[in-house]
Amino acid sequence: LTSRLRPFTSTIFAEITELARRTGAVNLGQGFPDTDGPEGMLRVAQQAIADGVNQYPPGAGAPELRGAIAAHRRSRYDIEHDPEGEILVTVGATEAMSAAMLALVEPGDEVVLIEPYYDAYPVAVAMAGGVRRTVPLTQGPDHRFVLDVDALRAAVGPQTRALVLNSPHNPTGTVFTDDELAAIADVCREHDVIAITDEVYEHLLFDGRKHKPLATLPGMTERTLSISSVGKSFSATGWKIGWVCGPRELVAAVRAAKQFITFVGGAPFQPAVAHALQHELDWAEQLRLDLQRKRDLLSSGLAEAGFDVLASEGTYFICADVRPLGFSDGAQLCRELPERIGVAAIPVQVFCDHPDATRHLVRFAFCKRDEVLDEAVERLHKLR
Ligand code: PMP
Ligand code: GLN
Repeated sequence: LTSRLRPFTSTIFAEITELARRTGAVNLGQGFPDTDGPEGMLRVAQQAIADGVNQYPPGAGAPELRGAIAAHRRSRYDIEHDPEGEILVTVGATEAMSAAMLALVEPGDEVVLIEPYYDAYPVAVAMAGGVRRTVPLTQGPDHRFVLDVDALRAAVGPQTRALVLNSPHNPTGTVFTDDELAAIADVCREHDVIAITDEVYEHLLFDGRKHKPLATLPGMTERTLSISSVGKSFSATGWKIGWVCGPRELVAAVRAAKQFITFVGGAPFQPAVAHALQHELDWAEQLRLDLQRKRDLLSSGLAEAGFDVLASEGTYFICADVRPLGFSDGAQLCRELPERIGVAAIPVQVFCDHPDATRHLVRFAFCKRDEVLDEAVERLHKLR
């Protein structure tokens, strides 16, 4: 294994999911829903297979899907993308991110990540030969996380090629505020930095919050690659249909990398995702409301079990401080929990270059059926 990849041999999701499987634990670790996406979408995929949509799709993605992505971005965010050249369909958001790094980052270039970061980002940077610089989200008032804007300014300089923004944010559930987005946009403009936004939770914001793509801020359209995917919006995490939208030159660069990574993928799923973006947004809204209710269910359950629960403003996830229960290390606790009480969760420190700041935090996924959440909460009460 190369020195580039050696620090990343196993993923926390594989480790904890395997532990959960072996112990029969309720798995609130890996974020995937335990119910299916909209029936209409599933039927379109089945029909596409029956109709012979089983060979290589076009390199940029099926035209009907690129059209649907453009229409969705236009009607929801008032952003215009030409489906011919400004939209590329990828194998999930993960491939879009890796291909973007390989396409745009020269060895030695710096990439700014906000920590805690989703685990695929540092690996994508490393595979491209880039150097990551991290900026912390810190626990602020109201039990929510805030961006350290001074640290952001300090992290960006002449070597900075790109910055990755994930809002709504995994693992914290933070939705970046308008002020935070403005500060990020300022820094990108001042230092001529490309923003790569991971918007896979774009439909999953709670309590009336609205998703605001960074690309809609002044001067950002021309320097932002916006990434999203079907997985979270339509409960189909295994389909791995993603997309990246942005200025023609940047999208062409990502396509140059993507064509030699997977070339294309998921032919029969592409018309189904097009259908979902056009006809299943009411379903997605219902999912959002359902997840908001599940967040409340798990949040109060965790609080009753003795955790200090942080705010979750979006995503599938909620973080909790384990110190009130007498623990100090979330990673140690997560490795014991499945055996001890039959619940699996993910430590937040594994998503950090500076793990001390989040050592006490554990992430729970609430994208599960109510009876699964109830069972987990009942078991967690045994920790006291
Ligand atoms: N980004 C974030 C922030 C995620 O939480 C996930 C996990 N599902 C992904 C990307 C991966 O998306 P995809 O399955 O579309 O590759
Ligand atoms: N995105 C999911 C999560 O954060 C997991 C994806 C994965 O297993 N890599 O839980």
